[in-house]
Amino acid sequence: MNTPQAIRGTQDIFGAEAEAFAHVVETFERVRKLYRFRRVEMPVFEKTEVFSRSIGETTDVVSKEMYSFEDRGGESLTLRPEFTAGICRAFLTNGWQQHAPLKVATHGPLFRYERPQKGRYRQFHQLDAEIIGAGEPQADVELLCLADQLLKELGIADGVTLMLNTLGDAASRDAWRAALIEYFRAVKGELSEDSQDRLERNPLRILDSKDPRDKAFVADAPKIDDFLSGEAQDFFGKVTSGLDAAGVAWTRAPALVRGLDYYRHTAFEFVTDRLGAQGTVLGGGRYDGLMESLGGPFTPAVGWAAGIERLAMLVGEVPIEDVVVSIAVEEDSLLNLGTKANTELRAIGFSTEMIASGSPRKRYDKAAKIPAKVLVSISVRDGKTFIRTQADPATEELGRIKDILGRLEP
Ligand code: ATP
Ligand code: MG
Repeated sequence: MNTPQAIRGTQDIFGAEAEAFAHVVETFERVRKLYRFRRVEMPVFEKTEVFSRSIGETTDVVSKEMYSFEDRGGESLTLRPEFTAGICRAFLTNGWQQHAPLKVATHGPLFRYERPQKGRYRQFHQLDAEIIGAGEPQADVELLCLADQLLKELGIADGVTLMLNTLGDAASRDAWRAALIEYFRAVKGELSEDSQDRLERNPLRILDSKDPRDKAFVADAPKIDDFLSGEAQDFFGKVTSGLDAAGVAWTRAPALVRGLDYYRHTAFEFVTDRLGAQGTVLGGGRYDGLMESLGGPFTPAVGWAAGIERLAMLVGEVPIEDVVVSIAVEEDSLLNLGTKANTELRAIGFSTEMIASGSPRKRYDKAAKIPAKVLVSISVRDGKTFIRTQADPATEELGRIKDILGRLEP
């Protein structure tokens, strides 16, 4: 019989990759607590309109990448392609307004119908951090500091650059948009088909295009700086001076726009040249207009998401926690004594491995091969239970381990 194959673009993560993945998540959990972001758990699927109304119909995500389906009740549902929209829906439907400004963090799987390749999957995973109900540039600074510290603690900050831009307020953005339409219209025939299509509907997206035909014109396209209102300039100045004060390095990227429609003011990406074409590891920005598109009141907010797989690739191999004690149970009759020792050692926080199966004569050798600080063998000598420990006498854990073993009732 044939074995069913996995769905294209999904991953079965195992071995060193799985350890690196877990390390990224654990580091994020530790750092988000330092910044006092509260953990939230979100549904994996939502009503389709949660995404179509907030992300925007003209984006790649909504127009081509969503996994949408009708459930048995005939309602259109979508597997989440990002966290932000669902978190904003929850903020509005659960009365989380009372907690504003609300700092939340989560992580988990996302789904996008993309062309699978290295660093790009149809089920992938993100870390996500959002500050909702905070309109001050200090919120942007705090969120970027969180991202920066995360990358530093993962040991990958050196290869990753923060690219920072402002999209201005609504007025600045509209004026820039009009200038972009005029500029790109003049060369319309030479743009990619996608960008010709984007031209009137969503011209900012052309700046985000990866197609070389578009890239040729992006460099000389009108820059947001020529359209920024005084207020928008002031906002961006406060973000950059805050980053400088915190020692977060950044590079100005005047053509950086991010794919989604809902961004205002700050937009950013952390990019690396070590992952080929999939070089963006973390991206986000301010999305002050999103809550209104979901029917809520004006609620300024800022957030980011990072691809766990891409971060894990940069992290590479992480050391697996050392085995402190390896135990050989050399007689089947001593199995329960071994189990007792093993349980008590683990209860006080030692990582252990017990060898108690296979040929009894080989168990000692197997246990001795495990790179542990302390080797314990449990055997029978002259009709009596015999527990032996072997270790460098300077091993600091040795005293506590011997205490436990000494108290075991054979
Ligand atoms: P890209 O330009 O690479 O398509 P994006 O702008 O669509 O990225 P976001 O929606 O901002 O990505 O998601 C944030 C992060 O999630 C990205 O920077 C990336 O690290 C990761 N990511 C996005 N899509 C995928 C995917 N299909 N597979 C793996 N990681 C992804
Ligand atoms: Mg994308």
